[in-house]
Amino acid sequence: MSKTIIVSNRLPVQLQISEGKITAIPSVGGLATGMKSVHSGGESLWIGWSGLTQEEIPEDLVGDIDEALAGQGCSKVALSQEEVDGFYFGFSNRTIWPLFHYFMEYTEFEWDFWEAYEAVNRKFADAILEQTSEDDVVWVHDYQLMLVPEMLRAERPGLSIGFFLHIPFPSYEIFRTMPWRREVLAGLLGSDLIGFHTYDYERHFLSSVRRILGHEVSFNEIHLDDRVAKVDSFPMGIDYKKFHEAAIRHREMKPGEESDLQQRLNSHKASTPNAKFFLSIDRLDYSKGIAKRIKAFEYFLQKYPEYKEKVRLIILAVPSRSLVPQYQLLKKEIDELVGRINGEISTVSWTPIWYFYRSLPFDNLIDLYTTCDIAWLTPIRDGMNLVAKEYIATRTDQTGVLLLSEMAGSANEMHESLLINPNNFEQIADSLHQAITMPVSEQIARNAPMQKRLERYNVEKWARDFMDSLKAQQNRDYSQV
Ligand code: UDP
Repeated sequence: MSKTIIVSNRLPVQLQISEGKITAIPSVGGLATGMKSVHSGGESLWIGWSGLTQEEIPEDLVGDIDEALAGQGCSKVALSQEEVDGFYFGFSNRTIWPLFHYFMEYTEFEWDFWEAYEAVNRKFADAILEQTSEDDVVWVHDYQLMLVPEMLRAERPGLSIGFFLHIPFPSYEIFRTMPWRREVLAGLLGSDLIGFHTYDYERHFLSSVRRILGHEVSFNEIHLDDRVAKVDSFPMGIDYKKFHEAAIRHREMKPGEESDLQQRLNSHKASTPNAKFFLSIDRLDYSKGIAKRIKAFEYFLQKYPEYKEKVRLIILAVPSRSLVPQYQLLKKEIDELVGRINGEISTVSWTPIWYFYRSLPFDNLIDLYTTCDIAWLTPIRDGMNLVAKEYIATRTDQTGVLLLSEMAGSANEMHESLLINPNNFEQIADSLHQAITMPVSEQIARNAPMQKRLERYNVEKWARDFMDSLKAQQNRDYSQV
């Protein structure tokens, strides 16, 4: 019987070691939820890194860890600290991430990083090959593992291999600057099906394949010597039900049941009933444009001074990749901006920016989504942006305004939101004004169709569509090609 193997850099579990005992706690991220229907029962396995380096795992616990992971349908690829440094903090996050998000000035082309990336991709491929037979289906995820499909294909040509990229694929002009552009494309082309969030990323990829490798491309198929690789877009959705139902429960809460955060939000709403909350939630990443958003907020208050003391910007910045220097600099820049603006324009009763640098538990996210009148999500570049989808899903009475960057993948499916260019402060200020004064009937008219779409194209449907397409590709007869 054939198995389905899911492969991602990180396993969807959190390992905890306490007093010599191991526990593997399933994580609740979007990908794990979407893959539930794929990764259930005994015929599937998830292969990835556990999050602990070999140096962090006491030798006598290795067996226990493998057993705890097996209990969750997982199998680990063991990585040393040196491998994680070169492969993850190096090539993945200092080369691919900035380049694919159009931050050329942050992109480092280091041979050591590349060698580590190749070696760790090989390690993943070996771990997968150990666990698979020819008629299995393998779904590889994301930019950390782009060489794996070809490595698998070389050893086991009959495998059915799918790959999904969760970040943008940049235009040819950007991609071509990478010294290892041929290797990366060839790595991906080991797949039968390559999926992207949007049609634009798909066509950037096809154009790079045609121009760099010279393969014949017809429509969305790439003609290789002995087979055809298909490329398609699959916009990732969210666990709509989870967010929507949590928001319904939240609405029905009695005063004593509310979180501390919610009580604090309520008391501010009560003291200034007409004031509006703007919400900004992202990982602290330069691609998210947080610093620019803060500057745009300052500009908005200069252009529309009548909103002083009437609006408040809540920023939740989730710590991320804090070992990469660029992220440390960004943290400093944001700290300083928030300090300066709050210092300059606060009044006795008004602090314009509330800034949280931490991750919040799910229930607090729901507090913020349901309480804030305007979600202001304006990344400079973002593969998808699920926060935008989560905000709309929680608006059970369909009020609220979403200000979304055109540069986020999700803008393609959320055209009823107020779409803005994150570099255009004039447009942002005017859109914020429009959002504040938008009649409730218009808010509902915009949000209702988006909710409907999000409910239908949820994350499970995304996973199912990809798997169905991969299976259809597997069953095709290429004897006529
Ligand atoms: N999120 C979280 N904890 C927080 C804030 C956000 O788990 O404190 C989640 C949020 O619900 C969303 C994800 O982080 O599902 C962010 O996904 P998105 O696609 O917006 O951006 P990414 O971080 O993947 O670039």
